[in-house]
Amino acid sequence: MRPAREKQRRKLTQSVQFKLALAFFALIAALLILLNTYPVSASRDIVFSEKESSMLEQAGVISASLSGLDTLSGDGVAQIVELLGLTDFERVMVTDASGRVLYDTASPSAEGRTALFAELMRALGSERVFWSEFAGGAFLSRAAMPVTRGGTVVGAVYICERDTTQADIILAFRDRLGTVSAIAFAMAFALTVVFTRRFTVRITRLSEAVRTVRGGDYAYRLSPEGDDELTELCRDFNSMTETLEKTEEQRRRFVSDASHELKTPLAAIRLLADSITGTENMDPGTVREFVQDISSEAERLQRTTEKLLNLSRRDDGARGELTDVDVGETAESTLRLLEPLAAKTGVTISLEAGPGCIISAPRDDVYQIIFNLAENAVKYNVPGGSVLVSVRRSAGAVELRVEDTGIGIPEKDLPNIFSRFYRVDKARSRERGGSGLGLSIVHDAVSALGGSVTVGAREGGGTRFTVRFPAGKGAEE
Ligand code: ADP
Repeated sequence: MRPAREKQRRKLTQSVQFKLALAFFALIAALLILLNTYPVSASRDIVFSEKESSMLEQAGVISASLSGLDTLSGDGVAQIVELLGLTDFERVMVTDASGRVLYDTASPSAEGRTALFAELMRALGSERVFWSEFAGGAFLSRAAMPVTRGGTVVGAVYICERDTTQADIILAFRDRLGTVSAIAFAMAFALTVVFTRRFTVRITRLSEAVRTVRGGDYAYRLSPEGDDELTELCRDFNSMTETLEKTEEQRRRFVSDASHELKTPLAAIRLLADSITGTENMDPGTVREFVQDISSEAERLQRTTEKLLNLSRRDDGARGELTDVDVGETAESTLRLLEPLAAKTGVTISLEAGPGCIISAPRDDVYQIIFNLAENAVKYNVPGGSVLVSVRRSAGAVELRVEDTGIGIPEKDLPNIFSRFYRVDKARSRERGGSGLGLSIVHDAVSALGGSVTVGAREGGGTRFTVRFPAGKGAEE
């Protein structure tokens, strides 16, 4: 139980959803922090600078009014302060040049004592001083300024203000931002969870599909939703699985057909051999006949395995070396090999080959193409029939035609004729030593060369195969 739970916990933090959500939250948190701090601090700074100019201006007004007095005294200062109506300030203090308090609204009893405020000390040193802070829900501002007469510092003014009105506005603004941020965060959280969930669910489905197909279920398909990159990926996955399914189906069929093809002659050989060994005193003529049958079955077996190997090498993508091959010359030498077979049934083979029919191809492939087509033309011919092989150049291609006056191929079989193991008449093909693989080899070899092969009925009976090869560099124009 424990390892499973640990795996689950590790999975959560390692999941794409978790990482995506974390990235979103980090982004949202950064934005909200900025939203909550920057406007508040910017408004505070605006208030500070507004306070600085207004407080220094007011301190300046008091200082200028006091500098008009002949002597700075507590009563004189009180009159001026009253005259100016400085009720907004929390404290107004005036000292003489030595820092002795002449007037103080906060504690009238302090008059006569020496004030030790840093701001006052600096003002007595001829400085204009301002200081402000935002604390305890209020703006606390202080300003101090020297009182001069005839260029000499005769005293200093110190004013202090506690502003809660502007502070309240900023605090309300901050609270509102806080509420809006909380709502925005809750919404972003919900949306992030929904979106990342949807996204990861789709990825999970895809990886489950990959595992299913890997397990051998090639019929499994995804149903693509939406129209984004993941949808595209699902479609690609489906078409890939479709190809896999087809390939697997072809492979299965090929293996079963191939085993069947090999099984039949092997069974015949076994039967014949058992008959010979099981029959006492079999006459030599029959033994000879049986051994001849065994030999021809073995020969068929050999031909079939050679063709199977040829096809399987092609499936593996193996290709022979490309050389310049004269199709006319290759046809001539190949047809010579078929003469004995043709002679048996009285079939005549003739060749019409034009000059310069050169293509770039593996020599053995050209031989295989011509041999299989011409062999079929002889095999599926009628006694006394004829085969015409012609090779000529036509518009950047070399055309090979194999025509016969034979039994022909029914229209309905034409689309399947190049499929592996396909035979129009199984018994006839078998009787003539066929395996149903010759035309597949022709088709694969021609396709690998970038050419095409077509089949149709010949006027006057029989069949015509036409192969078009792209002409090689050595071809004469
Ligand atoms: P096979 O070894 O049986 O000849 P192929 O692949 O060469 O196999 O040919 C497939 C089938 O096509 C043959 O079994 C035969 O029925 C038919 N066929 C091929 N060529 C001809 C032809 N020239 N005339 C009539 N039928 C043909």
